[in-house]
Amino acid sequence: MAMRTLLPALTALFLVTTPVAAQDFFGSFEDFVEELLPQRQAPERPRPAPVPAAPDPADEAGAEDADPPPMPRPRPVGLGEDGDAAEMPEDEPNPPPPVAEPPPPIPDPPGEALDDADAGVDGDIPLPQERPDVSPEPPASPAAEEAEAEPAAPSGPTAVPGRIYQTACPALLSGTVVGEMVAPIAEGICGERSPLVITAVRVNGHEIGFSSPVTTNCAMAGALADWVGEVDAYANAVLDSPVASLGTGTSMMCRNRYSAADGFVSEHGFANALDVVGFTLADGSSINVESDWLPAAAPEGRLLRQAHGAACGRFTTVLGPEANADHEDHFHVDLGCHGQTCTAQICE
Ligand SMILES: [Zn+2]
Repeated sequence: MAMRTLLPALTALFLVTTPVAAQDFFGSFEDFVEELLPQRQAPERPRPAPVPAAPDPADEAGAEDADPPPMPRPRPVGLGEDGDAAEMPEDEPNPPPPVAEPPPPIPDPPGEALDDADAGVDGDIPLPQERPDVSPEPPASPAAEEAEAEPAAPSGPTAVPGRIYQTACPALLSGTVVGEMVAPIAEGICGERSPLVITAVRVNGHEIGFSSPVTTNCAMAGALADWVGEVDAYANAVLDSPVASLGTGTSMMCRNRYSAADGFVSEHGFANALDVVGFTLADGSSINVESDWLPAAAPEGRLLRQAHGAACGRFTTVLGPEANADHEDHFHVDLGCHGQTCTAQICE
């Protein structure tokens, strides 16, 4: 009731005291007040108080805010959710790190532990190769090899620094050759990643030792066993005495062919060649290339020619006394690549 008399008075007061610039504001202010009146006529006396303060633009905003008091209500209600929601985005970035941290460390330790164990074992000499030596039985060795290979496979991707990667040798696993795989050899251009040091072959039901250990690759080792086995069968059939041992000469040696100052590197430089000086039979007789190549018709000469011919079927290079003077005292056999497809052979 009093509002109707009070408002005009206030309006007049403002018109007098307020600059012209504020008149536009008062136009809207009056409309605003008229809208308020019907609602507040009843009990809301306290409202008049804010009205006189409303003249300032700042208060107008305050007046509008005053009408929607419900607005603040949702806030307190929502504060819990909004507050959380507001905090969540800030907290979310924080939580992920802790979540991401646990998983990686957990899976890694076991993998690394295995790798470390393998790396430690493989440090000098790989385990897998030692087993065939201990147990020549073919069935047991391959099974053990697979068991070793499977756990080693998953550790591959993790790539443990310093690990030595080599290739297993079937002839060694089966016990056809006696020896062990040794660390990779790297001497300038020369070398072999999976060299073997073998001391004997097991063929025709018995073991034939070498006069000196041979450092060679797996392919050579397998071919050597086959070749010696063939010579052994011939000796046993023709000379009534099997081969007891193989006279071995140079195997791994980083040098050029014929030890020349320049030219191609010898296959000896890649553990891919072997020089054989002769055979010792079980009866104690010794048949050497240097002394027994001639006469050709003698039993010893025949055995050496049979051996030479048999080698030509298993190696890509076979050089004997008839090749040149450098080979008058030994057979040189290797698995070097001849021809564009490595199918050519040299048999001299
Ligand atoms: Zn040679």
